[in-house]
Amino acid sequence: MDLNQSLFDRAQELIPGGVNSPVRAFRSVGGAPRFIERAKGPYMWDVEGKAFIDYVLSWGPMILGHNNPEVVDAVKAAVDNGLSFGAATEGEVRIAQEIVKLVPSIEEVRLVSSGTEAGMSAIRLARGYTGRNKIIKFEGCYHGHSDSLLVKAGSGLLTFGNPSSAGVPASVTEHTLVLEYNNPQQLEDAFRQWGDDIACVIVEAFAGNMNLVRGTQEFIDTMRRLCTEHGALLIVDEVMTGFRVALGGAQSLFNVTPDITMLGKVIGGGMPVAAFGGRRDIMEKVAPCGPVYQAGTLSGNPVAVASGLATLRLIQTPGFYEKLGSQTEKLIAGLTAAAREAGIENFCGDSVGGMFGIYCLPEQPKGFADVMKADQALFNSFFHGMLERGVYFAPSTFEAGFVSITHDDAVIEKTIEAARETFADIA
Ligand code: PLP
Repeated sequence: MDLNQSLFDRAQELIPGGVNSPVRAFRSVGGAPRFIERAKGPYMWDVEGKAFIDYVLSWGPMILGHNNPEVVDAVKAAVDNGLSFGAATEGEVRIAQEIVKLVPSIEEVRLVSSGTEAGMSAIRLARGYTGRNKIIKFEGCYHGHSDSLLVKAGSGLLTFGNPSSAGVPASVTEHTLVLEYNNPQQLEDAFRQWGDDIACVIVEAFAGNMNLVRGTQEFIDTMRRLCTEHGALLIVDEVMTGFRVALGGAQSLFNVTPDITMLGKVIGGGMPVAAFGGRRDIMEKVAPCGPVYQAGTLSGNPVAVASGLATLRLIQTPGFYEKLGSQTEKLIAGLTAAAREAGIENFCGDSVGGMFGIYCLPEQPKGFADVMKADQALFNSFFHGMLERGVYFAPSTFEAGFVSITHDDAVIEKTIEAARETFADIA
């Protein structure tokens, strides 16, 4: 009996779709998801003992590879002192110090437990600060699953063909304006029409929830200028890109200063830590200093913070991002070359730091409409061919992928060899 399949059968009776987050269910690619038992470095092993080179990395956090010994030791030491206090700790001060040092646009930061909370809180803060209601988001960008942001929100929803979620009243999203990604003219038009009512623009500067789509410098500069001119706040969602595309995040690569930044994934090193932070005069509106309420029983949990602190220390090792970026580039170059060797033209890729996109398209997508044209059948064959050969990519063509510092040349070469075989089978 196939152990993954039998666990999946049981799971589906007990958990909606058998999973605790939708894309894990493999719905768009078909087949039973792999039930993972353990992981180390670039590898994960499923319950049948099969090894996979992992390019999902828990959807981004595991930048040091799985089970980094120094992170695990830090977590064990924290566990010995107690699991949760619901009171202030020194670790919270130390991680805030690290974040403020590494992301200069952040003067004060509040920890939460998920990117969703960071997004929800950042929007509330922007509205509370400006006294305005309208927010601008972009098609294909995902900022967590809070109601007002769940409109044309990318990956998970796209995978299931839903433009938005059921259960969100229209009255909740009536203040959410959804514009095209990488379309500065639409931003100009929206600010001309509603400028005085717009509380904030929220953006993924490198979108990672409609596969990887790069924001253009003009797009990012235009939103920064318009926000400043109209007294709106710019929220850059770095939950995925923070400490992933560069030590200073996407904002350092675009040389843009957000008013509020959202962080998550890497800052927890695999444990539930996320954050929102920004200019002091804005952050001082957050309770208990100001009138914008925000709270959490497990916010700043000491065990999670220990994992985050150890991770933030290790990513500051000299040469870390140069190595991460070059390994990711080698992967993308190798996969693309393997497709061409097999005569497959409808395949290309891109990467920024340790984040990548692979597209079943003849050229890189510039926005949501391009991403939607991906050859789903080709992607599914590629995905299953690779999985069969022990390489685990995200089970959806709308997701970005991730490389860790433990993905060395041998691991990348093994991946490319599997791709050569897979493409030869498909062609
Ligand atoms: N923002 C971005 C850019 C994300 O990629 C995600 C999750 O993938 C979130 C927010 C939500 O984070 P979480 O899943 O921790 O709630």
